[in-house]
Amino acid sequence: MTNKPVRVRYAPSPTGYPHVGNIRTALFNWLFARHSGGSFILRIEDTDVSRKIDGAVEAIFDSLQWLGMDWDEGPDVGGKYGPYVQSERLKKYRETAERLISQGDAYYCYCSPQRLDEMRAEQTRRKQPPGYDRHCRNLNQEEKDKKEAEAIIPVVRFKSPLEGQIRFNDLIRGEVVFENATIDDFVLLKSDGYPTYHLASVVDDHLMAISHVLRAEEWLPSTPRHLMLYQVLNLEPPQFAHLPMLLGADRTKLSKRHGAVAITEYREQGYLPEAIVNFLALLGWSLDDKTELLSRKELIDNFSLERVSRTAAIFNKDKLEWMNGVYIRSLSPDNFVQRSLPFLNS
Ligand code: GLU
Ligand code: ZN
Repeated sequence: MTNKPVRVRYAPSPTGYPHVGNIRTALFNWLFARHSGGSFILRIEDTDVSRKIDGAVEAIFDSLQWLGMDWDEGPDVGGKYGPYVQSERLKKYRETAERLISQGDAYYCYCSPQRLDEMRAEQTRRKQPPGYDRHCRNLNQEEKDKKEAEAIIPVVRFKSPLEGQIRFNDLIRGEVVFENATIDDFVLLKSDGYPTYHLASVVDDHLMAISHVLRAEEWLPSTPRHLMLYQVLNLEPPQFAHLPMLLGADRTKLSKRHGAVAITEYREQGYLPEAIVNFLALLGWSLDDKTELLSRKELIDNFSLERVSRTAAIFNKDKLEWMNGVYIRSLSPDNFVQRSLPFLNS
């Protein structure tokens, strides 16, 4: 592994307002970058046009700013690897998809939504694992010409290897192995000309010289797909680290009713950003087995992936209340007054 400069990214999709889970990912990336003197990059992943929400990009900026997570490159500040918004990079994804087709690592799929629905229903009936049945993988020229003549706009699918394994060393979880046979011929480019998350993520992480991908564990199943793409594109992949899941106090997946609301709602309720940062840092990372209160500087100085746990982190709202109280009581009288003003005026 070459010693590349540390460059990490926070890559939210503007499909909602960032909540605890998203911001914990942002924070770990930010702490990792600041600890190592690397760069923290903000990239907006807006390739799912139908799920875009008005105001979400502004809410992302606002949330990071409120918590004091500054970014070195991003849509508003620019940088030499821009643009940092995926909808402005469509040409790059198309070029890569075309390259993969000409190399024989991807193909056009003309299947209609109806055919895919029937295929899925059939798979469910037969209790088969879901996934594209590779119908268009081996169309002959005549069949392709026929589809083209029908003016169907195809999607581009990846030709996943049918056998073998993908192995990688996750910096938190250790060695991870996936059987290639479990991975279907996933879509790279949709018929609307937008890339899927998989294609866009790989193209951008490469072009933006990302050294480490730190993302939530729910993305782990995507990683073998990404590694397959790096392989056929003959590119060195970044290193991967999947952050432990967040659960509510009842040990179910963290949701709104546990407090996973927009992070800025905490600001409105009077939480201090320093308390939120301290609290979020401990969702999966620890300094030792006792220290709870850490300043921003202490977090930066001490953050390391070695101390990120593999087991799920529990979001404990009572602990957040307690911590916020500690931070409020430690404010100087002047500071306390200053920071109370916005609440008194309203
Ligand atoms: N756009 C994805 C998200 O919303 C990014 C996942 C990743 O970091 O690769 O979380
Ligand atoms: Zn097809």
